[in-house]
Amino acid sequence: MNASPGAVGRDTTSSVWLNDALAHEGGGDVTPLDGSLRSDICIVGGGYTGLWTALELKAREPGLDIVVLEKDLCGSGGSGANAGYALSIWLQFPLLVKLYGTEEALRLCRAGDEELSAIGAFSRDHGIDAQFDRQGAIWGATCDAQSGHWEPMLENLERHQVRHFKRVGHDEIAAMTGTTAHVAGVLDQSAAMIQPAMLARGLRRVAIEQGIRIFEKSPMIRLKRDSPPAVVTPRGTVTAGKVILALYAWSLGVRELRSSIMVICTDAAMTVPEALDNLGWRNGPALMDSRTFVEAYRTTESGQVMWTKSGGAMPYGARLDPCLKGVSRPLGSLRDVLRTPYPGLADQPVAGTWAGPIDRTRDGLPMFGALATAPDILYGYGYSGAGIVLSKIGSRILASLALESDDEWSRGGLVRPVPGGFPPEPMRYVGAHMVRAAIARKDRFDHEGRDVGPITRGLLTFKPQSYKPT
Ligand SMILES: Cc1cc2nc3c(=O)[nH]c(=O)nc-3n(C[C@H](O)[C@H](O)[C@H](O)COP(=O)(O)OP(=O)(O)OC[C@H]3O[C@@H](n4cnc5c(N)ncnc54)[C@H](O)[C@@H]3O)c2cc1C
Repeated sequence: MNASPGAVGRDTTSSVWLNDALAHEGGGDVTPLDGSLRSDICIVGGGYTGLWTALELKAREPGLDIVVLEKDLCGSGGSGANAGYALSIWLQFPLLVKLYGTEEALRLCRAGDEELSAIGAFSRDHGIDAQFDRQGAIWGATCDAQSGHWEPMLENLERHQVRHFKRVGHDEIAAMTGTTAHVAGVLDQSAAMIQPAMLARGLRRVAIEQGIRIFEKSPMIRLKRDSPPAVVTPRGTVTAGKVILALYAWSLGVRELRSSIMVICTDAAMTVPEALDNLGWRNGPALMDSRTFVEAYRTTESGQVMWTKSGGAMPYGARLDPCLKGVSRPLGSLRDVLRTPYPGLADQPVAGTWAGPIDRTRDGLPMFGALATAPDILYGYGYSGAGIVLSKIGSRILASLALESDDEWSRGGLVRPVPGGFPPEPMRYVGAHMVRAAIARKDRFDHEGRDVGPITRGLLTFKPQSYKPT
């Protein structure tokens, strides 16, 4: 087996986060797979899911030979492009109770709290400058029609003495964040902000230090569903006892997984540093609104504002990469996201814009398990916009499944068969665009104090669950 290292390249369509993280590394080496090898575990996908799972497996069984294959660079998927809101999973508590019962829902949510803290501790212990900061996050509403949807969830959590969340009114939000655009909201005091790509690249570095073999620029072009399974790349093959597909939105390319997710891109942008001077927001909580196509804005350690708008481009079939060549909206319309909450920021120079995919499941929860067609091939994906903490939980689950341990993780609620639900093409593409237009109309009408008609209401019944405290 030969490995041919090359230099790390930078890309104008990459996130500012990733470009900054690569610059911080000072141009490390890329090693593509060249030849055939065998390993105990082969993980496909070098984002949080793949790298946390590799590290978890190494921690449990140091002697394991683990290979990670990444089609581009580690962190070049969602893990290096996201908004960096490391959120507690208590928002999903009511749904988890409904699906798996109170005991399992409590276990998973408490595990989420521990994993959130563990992300900060791991970064600190390994010298990863992930800029983990427990500054909190506010789910706010920018119009009365979208306010108050959090009440049932809060009442439910109060019954279980969960005290992360605090109702905040218009004036309190303004005092904490300098914006008067939110009529009310909920402060999640446990939320942390991170520099997402620094975390992803840091995990890669630690994994390599621990003897995990990482091959970048090595896309899986074929998955052999044999026993043992094998992953084929353009210049090599890895045959492994277990293959773990940590492919996030690219799970669309695996036929067994395709009908379980809808992929829709989120557009993102970041101002240049010093944009925050005079705003009074440098250390306050991050914000998200209550649109279905959420608008979110946060500060960074270096005084930038990073913001996102979901509801962007959608792929036809599995053709995801062409959707990621840039943002799907003109810069002017992205700037409009900031115009109401922060008029003084909307026209600041930007350091960059980018787009990234979200892998939405019907119920908004991820799934982990083994392919029905090949029990030695595992999957973990479907975070529906909230993968920072869920992928850390996922790494525990995937490690237990890979090691065939009979424990709370392998028996837990999120281990489930791949559900169907989304239709094949071309119905999927046409239907998704109709539902997307209905969601955008509803978000707009809510702000104009108008009701949508029956057709829009009908289309909205097809939308996947969004990650909101409902
Ligand atoms: C703009 C945006 C904002 C977001 N904001 C947040 C947020 O604030 N909070 C939050 O919790 N979550 C957020 N998310 C979601 C979060 O980023 C993801 O849930 C998380 O990164 C998933 O990690 P992953 O490792 O599963 O996926 P990824 O990091 O995407 O890793 C999958 C990897 O697989 C690789 N790959 C694909 N195909 C192949 C192949 N054929 N062969 C080899 N490798 C392949 C990809 O290149 C990629 O690196 C956001 C996502 C986006 C796009």
